[in-house]
Amino acid sequence: MTDTIFGQIVRGEVSAELIYQDELVTAFRDIQPQAPTHILIVPNDPVPTLADVTESDEPTLGRMIRVASNLAEKDYIDKEGYRLIINCRDHGGQEVYHLHLHLLGGRPLGKMLPN
Ligand code: 5GP
Repeated sequence: MTDTIFGQIVRGEVSAELIYQDELVTAFRDIQPQAPTHILIVPNDPVPTLADVTESDEPTLGRMIRVASNLAEKDYIDKEGYRLIINCRDHGGQEVYHLHLHLLGGRPLGKMLPN
């Protein structure tokens, strides 16, 4: 089952603050931002988790990272820096099973994990 709320956002069936879309990926603001910039970049064709990615997904994964970098520039967080996160499955804390890249920034984000 790969149709999630993110698939519905990609197809325009559920509203979101959409900020970028092309033939491979869609980017929109997280509904519960953890930082001043918190953007989610998702593949248009859903892949449940990073563990399900195959060789054919490589162009999409590359696009996701390039789009994240471009959006960081657009949100003026590229100079100070930012963080990209992909949570995978249960131990990774993944909640929505449609692969997504978090772009977080706009404040110091601290250590990657709490001690
Ligand atoms: P995960 O924990 O799976 O890596 O992250 C899921 C993210 O999706 C969370 O940060 C959560 O706030 C966000 N999210 C969940 N439902 C929605 C929604 O309906 N719209 C938007 N824009 N973000 C959502």
